[in-house]
Amino acid sequence: MSTFPDNLLAGYRSFMGGRYSTERERYRSLAETGQEPHTMVIACCDSRAAPETIFDCGPGELFVVRNVANLVPPHAPDGNYHSTSAALEFAVQSLKIRQIVVMGHGRCGGIKAALDPNAEPLSPGDFIGQWMGLLKPAAQQIQDSSLMTSGERQVALERISIRNSIANLRTFPCVKILEDRGSMQLHGAWFDISSGELWVMDPQTGDFGRPDPLTD
Ligand SMILES: [Zn+2]
Repeated sequence: MSTFPDNLLAGYRSFMGGRYSTERERYRSLAETGQEPHTMVIACCDSRAAPETIFDCGPGELFVVRNVANLVPPHAPDGNYHSTSAALEFAVQSLKIRQIVVMGHGRCGGIKAALDPNAEPLSPGDFIGQWMGLLKPAAQQIQDSSLMTSGERQVALERISIRNSIANLRTFPCVKILEDRGSMQLHGAWFDISSGELWVMDPQTGDFGRPDPLTD
């Protein structure tokens, strides 16, 4: 029988001696009262783009869903297994979260695969190919542009993917109704893992820009 990974146990020991011991009370009260996260974040599985780290949030603050390339599928009540839709439903209907951030990131492997016309399935199920099919129309248009470099294509689709996910969020009646009432906010963000820069989406134009530097 293989043993539990040492590096994870070492990390856990460090967590118990550090963060858990300083936040013991917070954990205890969250256990008693339940979670009341202020924001839902839909992010990529990529190990370099963890929302809790990037936004420096503690336990109980963010309700996070991560999947390949931070995609939200369209509302499809078809009886199939929809993990992201289930999490969204729970966040909005049960936790009453009224702020959702879709966060993409630079050098996303899922986006890269979507842009590669010769990408071979990684397994017979081709789960990633199917999943990234959500972006197929956009990926095709970008692939066809000979005016862009491959780096430009990559960033363009990373950001289009964020806008696409936000558009799909609006296909869920629970999100749409609340947004139309003015009580739901949808945001886009893109994290550049090489520089640490965070770019945020202008809700009116869909353009991405650096927010004003924060001052103390
Ligand atoms: Zn990614």
